Amino acid sequence: MERPALDDRSYRVIRLPNQLEALLIHDADTDKASGALDVNVGSFSDATDMPGLAHAVEHMLFMGTEKYPLENEYNQYLTAHSGYSNAYTASTSTNYYFEVAASSTHHDSKSTTPASTLEDLTLDSQPPLYGALDRFAQFFVKPLFLEDTLDRELRAVDSENKKNLQSDNWRLHQLNKSLSNPEHPFCHFSTGNYETLHDKPIARGVKIRDEFIGFYQKHYSANRMKLVVLGRESLDQLQQWVEELFSDIEDKNLPRNRWDDVAPYTSNELGKQVFAKPVFDMRVLDIYFPYPDEEELYESQPGRYLSHLIGHEGPGSILSYIKNKGWANGLGAGPAPLCPGSAFFSISVKLTEEGLKNYQTLVEVIFQYIAMLKETPPQHWIFEEMKKMSEVDFRFRQKSPASKTTSALSAVMQKTYPRDCLLSGPALIRKFNPDAINRGLECLRPDNFRMTIVSQDYPGAWDKKEQWYGTEYNYDNIPPSLMERIHRAAKATPADRPTELHLPHKNEFIPTRLEVDRKDVLEPLKHPKLIRNDEHVRTWWKKDDRFWVPKANVHITLRSPLASISPHAGAMAQIYQGLVQDALVEYSYAADISGLEYQLIGHSLGMDVSVSGYNDKMAVLLEKLLISMRDLEVDSGRFKIIKERLLRGYKNVEFQQPYHQIGTYSRWINNEKGWINEQLLAELPNITEADVRIFYPQLLHQLHIEVLAHGNLYREDALRYTDLVESTLRPRKLPSSQWPIRRTLIIPPGSNYLYERPLKDPANVNHCIEYMLYLGNNQDRQLRAKALLFAQIADEPCFDQLRTKEQLGYVVFNGTTQHNTWLGYRVLIQSEKTPEYLESRIDSFLTNLLVELNDMSEHKFQKHKRSLINKRLERLKNLSQETGRFWNHIVGENFDFEQVTHDVDHIEPLTKNDLIAFYNKFISPGSSVRAKIAVHLVAQSVPAAVIEEPNANPEAKFQLVMTALSQFFDANRVPANPEQLARRLKGVDVNSTDPAAFIGAVKLYLTEDARVPDLQAQQIVEHGMLMMKAAMPAEGSEQAESNATTKPVRIEDVRAFKGSLQLSPGPRPAKNLVEFEDFEAKL
Ligand SMILES: [Zn+2]
Repeated sequence: MERPALDDRSYRVIRLPNQLEALLIHDADTDKASGALDVNVGSFSDATDMPGLAHAVEHMLFMGTEKYPLENEYNQYLTAHSGYSNAYTASTSTNYYFEVAASSTHHDSKSTTPASTLEDLTLDSQPPLYGALDRFAQFFVKPLFLEDTLDRELRAVDSENKKNLQSDNWRLHQLNKSLSNPEHPFCHFSTGNYETLHDKPIARGVKIRDEFIGFYQKHYSANRMKLVVLGRESLDQLQQWVEELFSDIEDKNLPRNRWDDVAPYTSNELGKQVFAKPVFDMRVLDIYFPYPDEEELYESQPGRYLSHLIGHEGPGSILSYIKNKGWANGLGAGPAPLCPGSAFFSISVKLTEEGLKNYQTLVEVIFQYIAMLKETPPQHWIFEEMKKMSEVDFRFRQKSPASKTTSALSAVMQKTYPRDCLLSGPALIRKFNPDAINRGLECLRPDNFRMTIVSQDYPGAWDKKEQWYGTEYNYDNIPPSLMERIHRAAKATPADRPTELHLPHKNEFIPTRLEVDRKDVLEPLKHPKLIRNDEHVRTWWKKDDRFWVPKANVHITLRSPLASISPHAGAMAQIYQGLVQDALVEYSYAADISGLEYQLIGHSLGMDVSVSGYNDKMAVLLEKLLISMRDLEVDSGRFKIIKERLLRGYKNVEFQQPYHQIGTYSRWINNEKGWINEQLLAELPNITEADVRIFYPQLLHQLHIEVLAHGNLYREDALRYTDLVESTLRPRKLPSSQWPIRRTLIIPPGSNYLYERPLKDPANVNHCIEYMLYLGNNQDRQLRAKALLFAQIADEPCFDQLRTKEQLGYVVFNGTTQHNTWLGYRVLIQSEKTPEYLESRIDSFLTNLLVELNDMSEHKFQKHKRSLINKRLERLKNLSQETGRFWNHIVGENFDFEQVTHDVDHIEPLTKNDLIAFYNKFISPGSSVRAKIAVHLVAQSVPAAVIEEPNANPEAKFQLVMTALSQFFDANRVPANPEQLARRLKGVDVNSTDPAAFIGAVKLYLTEDARVPDLQAQQIVEHGMLMMKAAMPAEGSEQAESNATTKPVRIEDVRAFKGSLQLSPGPRPAKNLVEFEDFEAKL
């Protein structure tokens, strides 16, 4: 197998008698094992009258198999072994994968808890990978498609689709699909929803379960499956397992799906223009050319040559030209395969306001540039540059995590690469093939494209609506006058073109010195050394001793209280940052494509500057960046563009997925300082060019400089980079007494706070809740250990209960949460159900968790501990991961570089009783001392199914109640018998303001008909009342409220709220910094 220089894995490709092809990967020191299986069938094979079928089958496949009939058996097994699973459905393939601990004992284990029973011993006699593969293989051998999981999984699919409804990526992608050739499966709606997968087929009299099984039987076949297994075991051992577990998959000898005879665009779709209205305030021009499928041309990859030039950002490029005209902020171009047989070459331009006005000229410029490419033969030196970079990148590619490796490779295996090129095939460019480049170029013609213009206010009226996402659009022929201009542009001679357009210059950033000074060490150093520490500067350095790549990461914090002293200053800092980046685009692009990049980020404690990649030419880029920061000329044209872009950016945040938005508010509410979006947004319009001209020299005037230099760098390099920062910016010193302190608020015991905000997007149907329990200081080692272990134990049950069983929504997260010194446990849900209802369900989940804790066997408890410890001790995968860890502890000012080891030491001794005590104090909704704070984001748009219907007739209302009750009982695992329920409710007035009769009837049903024990019935009724209230306000009963936990205190005035709480201490160094010092005596 052709592989990267540092890759110490070994590989073997085998084919089972049933034609299943498998790649086995032996990695002696991986701490995670993984399996992935890619099936060559996806949404392109959906039945036209059942969109989403392939996706639904992907969801359903996980729910129980003949050998392991329990629906959550697979996930329980994975969680108990530090693992997880996922899957996705693409156009022509469906990809399933999991990750699990590589060994059932963790390295440097100190605990010697013996397995308590014989059964337990046998349970552990095989590594977790074997058990996971066994469960995994059964999905493809004998899945059950359990009838009673069907509805719930379809609701998960539905929720997944609802999550995407307001996302422009999904909307615009689907618009392109929906407007493509109806004969090509590209036009399908791939996600599906409850209507397409449930309601409509059922109305047609279709048995949907049979459809799912039918799809599986028709398309899932061993010869269409590519399996990748990665583990510590020998290749022989892995092969034996694969043969044992996967040979039973049936081979139907199906052909590979191809779509050669049908094009995604025909003459009906070409020459058209689409105007689409986005949710976000954005302006984009997209051009799509049908393009050949270049799968067989992997050695020359002609599309990459074209994408390199058309997408170039340096001098002479399309972007450089239109950016200088003030028309664009960004441009991307490249080929994208759709399926075997078809592809697009697309060009996407981010437009400014002026750019939108001039989009027609902009399209001409693109065709003029293409004309230039057509008259210049493909250049060998450009190919050589690309080839060289592809080689360097492949040679020094670092290992990616186990499941990422297996999942990606199983997809690659569907392609026709020679089997010894599975790793290098997509990466390396090997052959210069001018003819193929010209053939590709030949497709970029005026009679072979369609374009889309995306804008919220142009043309201002849209007369059509896309059927799945509701995107408003217009669809017409490109006007003949414009078409004529484009045809002329496509034939432009050098004299007709702007002289600014030319091929790029030779790239000076391609690294040439790639030597790594490798000195093997017994034990890698666990922290960086402090090699300079004075009033101006603190420099941390570690020469890489693990990964041996010719790369480095240099992070610099310019510490200043000024950067976020007010929202006004914060917004100015952001404009400044945008202007510097903008000024550097042309210059830094060459570095960027040579694997060397920089970042500039303003934050509450100052500004971060970082450079990372091949270290050979790093100093050149860093110096240029610092000089640009120091000498920035605020150009008024660019200022307007950057400010406008920022303004849109802030506004667009409000249209993001609610679960992406909620963190900002949670952090804001829990921290003493910091600003939210709307505060910054309010300042922006008032900021002038002159403000920024005055502001940024002040920002740079007085700073403390903190540097971390990590990688293929010597001490001298680190000191030289530090000097470069100091001598270029020449700041006055900022004494440590003036450094900002990171503090968080202490949520006192017994509190129950609620911060509620309406969501701005009127079309969004999803609410969101972040339910946080404050635990204490993040540096308290005992507390951390308990919190981490609790989160480990709660994880799977939380997902199983709130997502799988109750189907509250697709997005359900839980776990510890940490910012600054704040340590908490949180549950986050995005859902169509109201936040109050979600809160009651989380309460109920947490209450019931006690049973789980109490009943947990000692063996299972130990397994959880082991699983958590394995996760904590997981090996660092690459240089950047290690840099990230160091940098977090440096900017977090706790310098706790060995936190992982301390965590493990404190997790080891924990007992079940410790955890129960922790639960009783901090987690249990019944605890009088727990400290809770929740953020509710409330959607304006409420889905029709659950709204209050004041005008509905009593019969309809009764039906609504019945449906809601059945769903609710289902979620609580109580059998819902409609007949019996109806009998109990007969004669009860569901519209009555006195719910006593109603409650009584429901309770009778529970105890008499469903035979639920009294206590449980009582609980169900209590939660049920809350639920009914949430679902149908008209049915709400005031009395029910009093049964719930204490009413939260609403945070109305944030400043007053923050003022009423105490502040945490700032972070303290885990060790005296002197212990990290290593100042070499100067000779
Ligand atoms: Zn899905």
